[in-house]
Amino acid sequence: MTDSFDVVVIGAGPGGYVAAIRCAQLGLNTVCIDALVDDQGKETLGGTCLNVGCIPSKALLESTEQFHRLNHQFAAHGISADNVAMDVSVMQARKKDIVKGLTGGISQLFKANKVTSIHGFGHVLSGNRVNVVDRDGQVIQTLTGQNIILAPGSVPVELPSIPYDHEFVVDSTGALAFNHVPKRIGIIGAGVIGLELGSVWNRLGSEVTIVEAMDDFLGAADHQVAREAKRQYAKQGLDIRLGATVSGVSSGAGGLQLGYAQKGEDHSLEVDRVIVAVGRKPATSGLLSEDCGVALDDRGFIEVDELCRTGAPNIWAVGDAVRGPMLAHKSSEEGVAVAERIGGGAGHIDFNCVPWVIYTSPEIAWVGQTENQLKEEGVEYRTGQFPFAANGRARAMEEPHGFVKIIADKHTDRILGVHMIGPHVSELIGECVVTMEFHGSSEDLARIVHAHPTLSEATHEAALAVDKRAIHKVG
Ligand code: FAD
Ligand code: NAD
Repeated sequence: MTDSFDVVVIGAGPGGYVAAIRCAQLGLNTVCIDALVDDQGKETLGGTCLNVGCIPSKALLESTEQFHRLNHQFAAHGISADNVAMDVSVMQARKKDIVKGLTGGISQLFKANKVTSIHGFGHVLSGNRVNVVDRDGQVIQTLTGQNIILAPGSVPVELPSIPYDHEFVVDSTGALAFNHVPKRIGIIGAGVIGLELGSVWNRLGSEVTIVEAMDDFLGAADHQVAREAKRQYAKQGLDIRLGATVSGVSSGAGGLQLGYAQKGEDHSLEVDRVIVAVGRKPATSGLLSEDCGVALDDRGFIEVDELCRTGAPNIWAVGDAVRGPMLAHKSSEEGVAVAERIGGGAGHIDFNCVPWVIYTSPEIAWVGQTENQLKEEGVEYRTGQFPFAANGRARAMEEPHGFVKIIADKHTDRILGVHMIGPHVSELIGECVVTMEFHGSSEDLARIVHAHPTLSEATHEAALAVDKRAIHKVG
């Protein structure tokens, strides 16, 4: 059977499902194919983000942060509680409910927008045709699309020396699903996943050691933010070992032995579980036929230009499987932009204004460039910084850690980057993204009325500090 569509979307993660809905809104007859099944083998939509990524990790981060607060922060408010306990099975059931609700929501959105949803693996052929293959490898349908959007996302990288057994040595999906609190966890990689999932289990009592290959901690972040983050994580008990080269994992009498070398010395760490969090790679294996005209680079990413066009006419690609950060909102915005281009409009994304957030406590958020990047580019800039310790709302919340730093061009005052660590900075960064999208200056932010007492006043004061006129800061 051949079915013709205006648009065939492969992948129903935040890149693909959002693209499909936007195409349908624009009146295009759209089909979205996805092969994902949940841990019960049931078909599910929403990709990595909703099933085993952003949403379940944030559900666990929220549960464990409440637990941590009750144990460590509530006393300062005069609140005491006896017999505080975490029922991991309830926490996991809550996470599953949230995932189920949101993934089911995508089915409803597809129905409401008349997007055809097909379960199966999409394989792109020449001539804008796509085979849909079932779990047994049988072709169940061949579709043609005037346009094809590839949004296959990404999968965890596996270290050849430390293969997953999915019980003791796990990837992020396994680490989201522990049904008890492991006593000792070794995490390989102090990136976003290592820090977020390390925080989850550390807050519940696991001894967490993170082994990181690089000498620099959080190299992509602002250096002061990274330093403050490392200090706060250490206070929470996260043991982060930098410049460490892992060699392998073996089983010993007392558990697993994670071998690594640091400063020329060999070490062995005894742990009960190992989480490998060394990055993700594009899920492009088996996606493309040799003659379909779409090229992969040497790391398996789909090659696209700045408009997400592949080398093949009318075949587009978005999200984790193409260049740029592996972030859900970046995938979705690329999906929308491509849908609008197909629909005859002008899709827009400013890749310099894609915010990053790390949902640890304190949270970390940034947008735009770091001081190091600007120095390398020879750009002259001024900075303004304001600590949450001097912010009334943060003090009232008992969350006085961290700061907001704004970097503005020395000559034009245009904001070039904003870097934050502190309470709810995942929400505060939005204002700065908007300001940067509108090419705003620190003066613009400084002249905007911010409600009192709010955390956003720290952003306001940081903007004032660029011109050395912060009100609530000495020096
Ligand atoms: P995906 O979400 O990976 O979706 C791709 C879909 O396509 C999948 O369902 C896959 O099964 C399907 N597929 C692949 N190939 C085929 C094929 N040939 N045929 C049919 N279907 C196919 N990002 C954030 O912005 N914020 C966060 O807080 C955050 N937290 C994360 C936490 C974890 C633990 C992880 C692992 C990731 C997190 N991310 C976060 C990253 C985020 O999940 C990804 O950037 C995002 O999901 C990418 O969206 P996508 O649509 O490109 O791909
Ligand atoms: P990452 O790139 O953030 O971090 C991987 C870390 O592992 C790096 O610090 C790297 O130096 C280190 N590493 C690599 N090989 C190593 C080795 N052999 N030994 C020791 N360390 C090694 O990758 P991740 O944490 O796996 O996350 C993957 C992607 O998922 C992220 O890049 C991000 O785009 C996305 N993500 C985003 C969020 C968020 O937005 N809050 C949360 C989770 C994941």
